[in-house]
Amino acid sequence: MPKDVTDVICPFCGTLCDDLIITVSDDNKTILGVKNACAIGAEKFNHQRQPGRVKRPRMRQADGSYKEITYDEAIDWTAKMLVKSRKTLMYGWASTSCQAMSIGHEIAEKVGAIVDNCATVCHGSSLIAIEDVGVPSCTLGEVKNRADRVIFWGCNPAHAHPRHMSRYSIFPRGFFTAKGHKGRKIYCVDCRYTDTAKVADGFIQVQQGFDYELLDAFRTAARGEALPDTVGGVPKEKIIEVVEDLKSGRFGIIFFGMGLTHTMGRNHNIDIAINFTRDMNDYTKFAIMAMRGHWNVTGSGQVLGWQYGFPYAVD
Ligand code: SF4
Repeated sequence: MPKDVTDVICPFCGTLCDDLIITVSDDNKTILGVKNACAIGAEKFNHQRQPGRVKRPRMRQADGSYKEITYDEAIDWTAKMLVKSRKTLMYGWASTSCQAMSIGHEIAEKVGAIVDNCATVCHGSSLIAIEDVGVPSCTLGEVKNRADRVIFWGCNPAHAHPRHMSRYSIFPRGFFTAKGHKGRKIYCVDCRYTDTAKVADGFIQVQQGFDYELLDAFRTAARGEALPDTVGGVPKEKIIEVVEDLKSGRFGIIFFGMGLTHTMGRNHNIDIAINFTRDMNDYTKFAIMAMRGHWNVTGSGQVLGWQYGFPYAVD
Protein backbone atom coordinates (compact mmCIF):
# COMPACT_ATOMS: atom_id res chain seq x y z
CA MET A 1 0.00 0.00 0.00
CA PRO A 2 1.34 3.53 -0.80
CA LYS A 3 1.75 5.68 2.26
CA ASP A 4 1.95 9.40 3.05
CA VAL A 5 5.00 10.97 4.73
CA THR A 6 4.00 14.25 6.39
CA ASP A 7 5.89 17.42 7.42
CA VAL A 8 8.50 16.97 4.69
CA ILE A 9 10.80 19.94 3.99
CA CYS A 10 11.11 21.04 0.39
CA PRO A 11 14.76 21.24 -0.70
CA PHE A 12 14.38 23.76 -3.45
CA CYS A 13 14.18 27.52 -3.13
CA GLY A 14 15.18 28.46 0.38
CA THR A 15 11.65 29.22 1.59
CA LEU A 16 12.03 25.75 3.11
CA CYS A 17 8.33 24.89 3.24
CA ASP A 18 8.00 22.20 5.90
CA ASP A 19 4.40 21.11 5.34
CA LEU A 20 4.75 18.85 2.30
CA ILE A 21 3.02 15.47 2.13
CA ILE A 22 4.88 12.95 -0.03
CA THR A 23 3.20 9.72 -1.10
CA VAL A 24 5.70 6.86 -1.43
CA SER A 25 5.34 3.31 -2.73
CA ASP A 26 5.04 0.35 -0.39
CA ASP A 27 8.78 -0.43 -0.73
CA ASN A 28 9.74 3.26 -0.08
CA LYS A 29 11.62 3.36 -3.40
CA THR A 30 9.34 5.52 -5.54
CA ILE A 31 7.73 8.91 -4.95
CA LEU A 32 4.16 8.65 -6.22
CA GLY A 33 2.78 12.09 -5.38
CA VAL A 34 3.43 15.47 -3.75
CA LYS A 35 0.95 17.69 -1.91
CA ASN A 36 1.26 21.33 -0.76
CA ALA A 37 4.39 22.11 -2.81
CA CYS A 38 4.47 24.84 -5.47
CA ALA A 39 5.10 23.82 -9.09
CA ILE A 40 8.90 23.99 -8.84
CA GLY A 41 9.00 22.20 -5.48
CA ALA A 42 6.71 19.43 -6.74
CA GLU A 43 8.89 19.03 -9.83
CA LYS A 44 11.95 18.49 -7.61
CA PHE A 45 10.28 15.47 -5.97
CA ASN A 46 8.55 14.11 -9.07
CA HIS A 47 11.91 14.16 -10.86
CA GLN A 48 12.82 11.10 -8.78
CA ARG A 49 10.72 8.98 -11.16
CA GLN A 50 12.42 10.29 -14.32
CA PRO A 51 14.50 7.79 -16.30
CA GLY A 52 18.26 8.40 -16.49
CA ARG A 53 18.62 9.57 -12.88
CA VAL A 54 22.08 8.77 -11.47
CA LYS A 55 21.56 6.51 -8.46
CA ARG A 56 25.01 4.97 -7.96
CA PRO A 57 28.58 6.32 -8.30
CA ARG A 58 29.92 6.03 -11.86
CA MET A 59 33.45 6.05 -13.25
CA ARG A 60 34.23 7.48 -16.67
CA GLN A 61 35.92 4.87 -18.89
CA ALA A 62 38.66 5.40 -21.49
CA ASP A 63 36.09 5.39 -24.32
CA GLY A 64 34.06 8.15 -22.59
CA SER A 65 31.28 5.84 -21.38
CA TYR A 66 30.35 5.45 -17.70
CA LYS A 67 30.50 2.31 -15.57
CA GLU A 68 28.71 1.93 -12.24
CA ILE A 69 31.07 1.33 -9.32
CA THR A 70 30.53 0.65 -5.62
CA TYR A 71 30.63 3.37 -2.98
CA ASP A 72 33.83 1.82 -1.56
CA GLU A 73 35.51 2.09 -4.96
CA ALA A 74 34.31 5.68 -5.38
CA ILE A 75 35.54 6.71 -1.92
CA ASP A 76 38.91 5.03 -2.47
CA TRP A 77 39.42 6.72 -5.86
CA THR A 78 38.37 10.14 -4.52
CA ALA A 79 40.59 9.92 -1.42
CA LYS A 80 43.62 9.06 -3.58
CA MET A 81 42.80 11.88 -5.99
CA LEU A 82 42.57 14.38 -3.09
CA VAL A 83 45.90 13.25 -1.60
CA LYS A 84 47.67 13.46 -4.98
CA SER A 85 46.26 16.85 -6.02
CA ARG A 86 48.31 20.04 -5.60
CA LYS A 87 45.30 22.32 -5.01
CA THR A 88 41.70 21.14 -4.93
CA LEU A 89 38.61 23.32 -5.22
CA MET A 90 35.70 21.83 -3.28
CA TYR A 91 32.75 23.81 -4.60
CA GLY A 92 28.98 23.64 -4.20
CA TRP A 93 27.68 22.26 -0.88
CA ALA A 94 24.23 23.87 -1.02
CA SER A 95 22.45 20.62 -1.85
CA THR A 96 23.55 18.70 1.20
CA SER A 97 23.19 18.73 4.97
CA CYS A 98 25.15 20.86 7.45
CA GLN A 99 26.61 17.70 9.01
CA ALA A 100 28.00 16.54 5.64
CA MET A 101 29.42 20.03 5.02
CA SER A 102 31.29 20.11 8.32
CA ILE A 103 32.95 16.74 7.59
CA GLY A 104 33.75 17.87 4.03
CA HIS A 105 35.41 21.01 5.37
CA GLU A 106 37.60 18.94 7.70
CA ILE A 107 38.71 16.89 4.69
CA ALA A 108 39.43 20.14 2.84
CA GLU A 109 41.59 21.32 5.73
CA LYS A 110 43.55 18.05 5.73
CA VAL A 111 44.26 18.17 1.98
CA GLY A 112 44.78 21.95 1.78
CA ALA A 113 41.81 22.58 -0.48
CA ILE A 114 39.79 25.72 -1.16
CA VAL A 115 36.14 25.50 -0.10
CA ASP A 116 33.58 27.67 -1.82
CA ASN A 117 29.81 27.60 -2.23
CA CYS A 118 27.15 28.93 -4.58
CA ALA A 119 26.92 32.20 -2.59
CA THR A 120 29.86 33.32 -4.74
CA VAL A 121 27.36 33.84 -7.54
CA CYS A 122 24.33 34.98 -5.49
CA HIS A 123 24.36 36.39 -1.94
CA GLY A 124 28.11 36.36 -1.24
CA SER A 125 28.09 40.14 -1.50
CA SER A 126 25.35 40.23 1.18
CA LEU A 127 27.60 38.22 3.48
CA ILE A 128 30.49 40.64 2.92
CA ALA A 129 28.19 43.55 3.85
CA ILE A 130 26.91 41.71 6.93
CA GLU A 131 30.49 41.10 8.07
CA ASP A 132 31.21 44.81 7.52
CA VAL A 133 28.22 46.38 9.26
CA GLY A 134 26.18 43.64 11.03
CA VAL A 135 22.54 42.90 10.31
CA PRO A 136 19.33 43.73 12.16
CA SER A 137 17.26 40.72 11.09
CA CYS A 138 14.48 38.47 12.34
CA THR A 139 12.77 35.15 11.64
CA LEU A 140 10.16 34.52 8.95
CA GLY A 141 7.78 33.72 11.82
CA GLU A 142 8.19 37.28 13.11
CA VAL A 143 7.45 38.59 9.61
CA LYS A 144 4.27 36.54 9.41
CA ASN A 145 3.09 37.53 12.88
CA ARG A 146 4.22 41.16 13.07
CA ALA A 147 5.22 42.82 9.78
CA ASP A 148 2.82 45.49 8.53
CA ARG A 149 5.29 47.11 6.09
CA VAL A 150 6.99 44.77 3.60
CA ILE A 151 9.46 45.85 0.91
CA PHE A 152 10.65 43.51 -1.83
CA TRP A 153 13.79 45.11 -3.29
CA GLY A 154 15.42 43.59 -6.37
CA CYS A 155 13.68 40.26 -5.91
CA ASN A 156 10.71 38.51 -7.47
CA PRO A 157 9.34 35.89 -5.07
CA ALA A 158 6.29 35.37 -7.28
CA HIS A 159 8.66 33.36 -9.48
CA ALA A 160 11.72 32.51 -7.39
CA HIS A 161 10.14 31.77 -3.97
CA PRO A 162 6.55 30.91 -4.93
CA ARG A 163 5.08 30.20 -1.47
CA HIS A 164 6.96 32.99 0.36
CA MET A 165 4.07 35.43 -0.03
CA SER A 166 1.37 32.95 1.05
CA ARG A 167 3.31 31.51 4.00
CA TYR A 168 5.02 34.58 5.46
CA SER A 169 5.01 37.95 3.81
CA ILE A 170 1.67 39.00 2.28
CA PHE A 171 -1.32 36.71 2.58
CA PRO A 172 -1.30 34.83 5.92
CA ARG A 173 -3.07 36.05 9.02
CA GLY A 174 -0.43 36.52 11.73
CA PHE A 175 -0.74 36.78 15.50
CA PHE A 176 -0.67 40.60 15.31
CA THR A 177 -1.51 41.08 11.61
CA ALA A 178 -4.76 40.80 9.68
CA LYS A 179 -5.04 38.53 6.67
CA GLY A 180 -3.57 39.74 3.38
CA HIS A 181 -3.33 43.37 2.31
CA LYS A 182 -5.70 44.58 5.03
CA GLY A 183 -2.97 44.15 7.60
CA ARG A 184 0.06 45.00 5.48
CA LYS A 185 1.40 47.57 3.08
CA ILE A 186 3.55 45.98 0.38
CA TYR A 187 6.16 47.82 -1.71
CA CYS A 188 8.17 46.48 -4.59
CA VAL A 189 11.34 48.26 -5.75
CA ASP A 190 12.67 46.99 -9.06
CA CYS A 191 13.85 48.22 -12.44
CA ARG A 192 11.13 46.03 -14.06
CA TYR A 193 7.38 45.64 -13.44
CA THR A 194 7.45 42.06 -12.15
CA ASP A 195 4.68 39.68 -11.06
CA THR A 196 5.61 40.58 -7.47
CA ALA A 197 5.05 44.26 -8.34
CA LYS A 198 1.53 43.33 -9.50
CA VAL A 199 0.54 42.26 -5.96
CA ALA A 200 2.27 45.19 -4.23
CA ASP A 201 0.42 48.30 -3.01
CA GLY A 202 3.21 50.47 -4.34
CA PHE A 203 5.70 49.90 -7.16
CA ILE A 204 8.83 52.06 -7.23
CA GLN A 205 10.65 51.75 -10.53
CA VAL A 206 14.33 52.47 -9.99
CA GLN A 207 16.62 53.13 -12.91
CA GLN A 208 18.86 50.12 -13.43
CA GLY A 209 22.10 50.44 -11.44
CA PHE A 210 20.79 53.25 -9.16
CA ASP A 211 19.76 51.20 -6.11
CA TYR A 212 22.58 52.62 -3.97
CA GLU A 213 21.57 56.19 -4.80
CA LEU A 214 17.90 55.46 -4.08
CA LEU A 215 18.69 53.82 -0.73
CA ASP A 216 20.88 56.81 0.11
CA ALA A 217 17.92 59.06 -0.74
CA PHE A 218 15.68 56.95 1.54
CA ARG A 219 18.16 57.57 4.38
CA THR A 220 18.23 61.29 3.59
CA ALA A 221 14.41 61.45 3.53
CA ALA A 222 14.25 59.58 6.86
CA ARG A 223 16.39 62.35 8.40
CA GLY A 224 14.17 65.01 6.81
CA GLU A 225 17.02 66.53 4.79
CA ALA A 226 16.83 68.04 1.30
CA LEU A 227 16.68 65.80 -1.79
CA PRO A 228 17.20 66.51 -5.50
CA ASP A 229 14.05 66.44 -7.68
CA THR A 230 14.59 62.81 -8.72
CA VAL A 231 16.91 60.02 -7.61
CA GLY A 232 17.37 56.94 -9.77
CA GLY A 233 14.32 58.03 -11.78
CA VAL A 234 12.09 58.28 -8.68
CA PRO A 235 10.56 61.71 -7.84
CA LYS A 236 11.50 63.09 -4.40
CA GLU A 237 7.81 63.37 -3.43
CA LYS A 238 7.43 59.61 -3.91
CA ILE A 239 10.57 58.88 -1.86
CA ILE A 240 9.34 61.07 1.03
CA GLU A 241 5.83 59.54 0.86
CA VAL A 242 7.17 55.96 1.05
CA VAL A 243 9.66 56.69 3.84
CA GLU A 244 6.99 58.47 5.92
CA ASP A 245 4.66 55.48 5.45
CA LEU A 246 7.44 53.07 6.50
CA LYS A 247 8.06 55.15 9.62
CA SER A 248 4.38 54.95 10.54
CA GLY A 249 4.30 51.13 10.54
CA ARG A 250 4.70 48.92 13.62
CA PHE A 251 7.14 46.43 12.08
CA GLY A 252 8.88 46.72 8.72
CA ILE A 253 10.95 44.24 6.75
CA ILE A 254 13.11 44.58 3.63
CA PHE A 255 13.50 41.41 1.58
CA PHE A 256 16.26 41.84 -1.00
CA GLY A 257 17.45 39.70 -3.89
CA MET A 258 20.03 39.52 -6.57
CA GLY A 259 18.74 42.73 -8.13
CA LEU A 260 20.72 44.34 -5.30
CA THR A 261 23.57 41.88 -4.80
CA HIS A 262 24.57 41.55 -8.45
CA THR A 263 24.11 45.06 -9.77
CA MET A 264 26.49 47.99 -9.63
CA GLY A 265 27.62 48.50 -6.04
CA ARG A 266 27.12 44.88 -4.94
CA ASN A 267 28.02 44.61 -1.22
CA HIS A 268 27.75 48.39 -0.86
CA ASN A 269 24.10 48.18 -1.96
CA ILE A 270 23.53 45.78 0.90
CA ASP A 271 25.43 47.73 3.52
CA ILE A 272 23.44 50.87 2.72
CA ALA A 273 20.18 48.85 2.83
CA ILE A 274 21.26 47.54 6.26
CA ASN A 275 22.09 51.08 7.40
CA PHE A 276 18.68 52.31 6.17
CA THR A 277 17.11 49.48 8.20
CA ARG A 278 19.12 50.62 11.21
CA ASP A 279 17.97 54.24 10.67
CA MET A 280 14.34 53.13 10.58
CA ASN A 281 14.73 51.59 14.03
CA ASP A 282 14.85 55.16 15.36
CA TYR A 283 11.13 55.35 14.47
CA THR A 284 9.76 51.80 14.55
CA LYS A 285 10.87 48.15 14.53
CA PHE A 286 12.58 47.30 11.24
CA ALA A 287 14.48 44.27 9.93
CA ILE A 288 16.13 43.09 6.72
CA MET A 289 16.55 39.65 5.19
CA ALA A 290 18.17 38.22 2.07
CA MET A 291 16.00 36.15 -0.26
CA ARG A 292 18.35 33.20 -0.27
CA GLY A 293 17.94 30.39 -2.77
CA HIS A 294 19.11 26.92 -3.50
CA TRP A 295 18.00 24.97 -0.45
CA ASN A 296 20.84 24.85 2.10
CA VAL A 297 23.21 27.49 0.73
CA THR A 298 22.53 29.45 3.92
CA GLY A 299 23.61 26.38 5.90
CA SER A 300 26.86 26.24 3.96
CA GLY A 301 27.70 29.83 4.95
CA GLN A 302 26.73 29.14 8.56
CA VAL A 303 28.84 25.98 8.84
CA LEU A 304 31.91 27.58 7.20
CA GLY A 305 31.33 30.59 9.48
CA TRP A 306 31.39 28.60 12.72
CA GLN A 307 34.25 26.37 11.62
CA TYR A 308 36.56 28.95 10.01
CA GLY A 309 35.10 32.42 10.52
CA PHE A 310 34.28 33.13 6.86
CA PRO A 311 31.09 32.16 5.03
CA TYR A 312 32.52 31.34 1.60
CA ALA A 313 35.75 31.29 -0.45
CA VAL A 314 37.84 29.78 2.36
CA ASP A 315 41.41 28.63 1.67
S1 SF4 B 1 8.14 27.83 -2.23
FE1 SF4 B 1 10.21 26.97 -2.37
S2 SF4 B 1 10.44 25.66 -0.55
FE2 SF4 B 1 8.22 26.07 -0.83
S3 SF4 B 1 7.46 24.36 -2.08
FE3 SF4 B 1 8.02 25.98 -3.53
S4 SF4 B 1 10.15 25.53 -4.10
FE4 SF4 B 1 9.70 24.36 -2.25
